[in-house]
Amino acid sequence: MRKSIQDIANWLNIEAGEHGEKIVTGVSIDTRTIKEGDLFIPFRGEKTNGHKYVLQAFEKGASCSLWLKDEPNPPKDVPLLFVEDSGLALQQMARMYRNELKAKFIGITGSNGKTSSKDILASLLSPFYKVQKTIGNFNNELGLPLTILSLDEDTEIAVLEMGMSGFGEIEFLSTLAKPHYAVITNIGEAHMQDLGSREGIAKAKFEIIKGFDSEGVLCYDGDEPLLRALIEITPQLRSKSFGFQQGNDLMIREIETTEKGSRFIVDGELNGEFFIPILGKHQVKNALGAMLVAKSLGMSDEQIRKGLEQVSLTDMRMQLVPVGDVLFINDAYNAAPTSMKAAIEFLQSTSMRKDKWLVLGDMLELGDKEQQFHEELARYIDENRISRICLFGPRMEWLYHKIAPRFSGRILHTKDDYGKIVDYIKQHADKDSLILIKGSRGMKLETIINTFNK
Ligand code: ATP
Ligand code: MG
Repeated sequence: MRKSIQDIANWLNIEAGEHGEKIVTGVSIDTRTIKEGDLFIPFRGEKTNGHKYVLQAFEKGASCSLWLKDEPNPPKDVPLLFVEDSGLALQQMARMYRNELKAKFIGITGSNGKTSSKDILASLLSPFYKVQKTIGNFNNELGLPLTILSLDEDTEIAVLEMGMSGFGEIEFLSTLAKPHYAVITNIGEAHMQDLGSREGIAKAKFEIIKGFDSEGVLCYDGDEPLLRALIEITPQLRSKSFGFQQGNDLMIREIETTEKGSRFIVDGELNGEFFIPILGKHQVKNALGAMLVAKSLGMSDEQIRKGLEQVSLTDMRMQLVPVGDVLFINDAYNAAPTSMKAAIEFLQSTSMRKDKWLVLGDMLELGDKEQQFHEELARYIDENRISRICLFGPRMEWLYHKIAPRFSGRILHTKDDYGKIVDYIKQHADKDSLILIKGSRGMKLETIINTFNK
């Protein structure tokens, strides 16, 4: 971006002071990553006070900084803008900048697969448009405005991830970003704690249409009855569904997995055979959402076919990692019941290798029913198709008790010892082994692959 301090003061409806002419080229909340020309936003939290870093920000080339009105001792002779609330100021700047941008905006939400879908869509579109997307997981009430403020003025497509943990949050993000297109990847069980039920989760995700104008198009998981029900009571909404079931506007007929990725055949809005260099039925489904958006943007089937072949994902999402003879699938970025089931199902059905292992870590933030969610995984695990299981974390003890009898002599549980699992893999894995690693972010299961690799 290229704005004067005066422009920003106008956005915030405050006085610019004497440095109004100076140019701001970006926004940062962290002096470790701040760039020359950025406007610095200090946050005051319980542990630290960002105002301590304001001078450092200027030393590193900041063009301007916000300063909370009730914070004492503002430094002199540097350009400061005085505000009531750092977060609100950040959001207001993003809102105003958004309204100036000509780009098409795409919002992506869902219980699982937001980041994957965002990466698939951005990489599918990028040979044909100037595309920018949410970096990493910057998907909340601070991450989204920061992402918007990092967009270039000539960006043609902005792909934004929108996350939530309660009602009203997606509505807030959507009315800020005003997406032209939105995707709901699926409805799972994450955040049951705050939303009460799967119906609640579906409603909360559906808030993504709140920022639409009359032209907005929603692409959604049509295999999910809860979303179909919401579509039915919103007749004025333009929407397209995708999934495995008959009757979807875009549907998967066949999938074949190789060591390179997934070949699949679709029917409906697009037809024929496509390939993505990614593993897992659920990722193919994410690709369908991306294909519908691309099609709505006016891309041809042939362009979409070419774009998909070059797709790549952020690390730790069904990522193939060969270490010596052993082949790991690193899906350690995160885990919730739905994504666990999807990953287990993928491993059981693949014919990539025959000695298939599950290494699973605790699923966090599941609320009152966490024990049930861990125990239920037992139903999806087939002792005839999985050769060994390693379970990591205190909650996985619940699953351990359920399945240990079926896996006698082929199962290991540890509450917190990565080394134990690494040793077990070293002892029993060979050139036929395919080891899927998955757990919640807090469990850091990638440590197992990294330690094994040393
Ligand atoms: P977060 O809420 O942490 O940002 P996310 O929605 O961005 O998560 P991803 O990071 O894309 O989701 O994927 C998280 C996990 O869910 C991965 O293990 C991935 O393999 C799995 N996953 C991705 N898409 C789906 C899907 N459509 N259904 C079930 N599981 C999925
Ligand atoms: Mg994400």
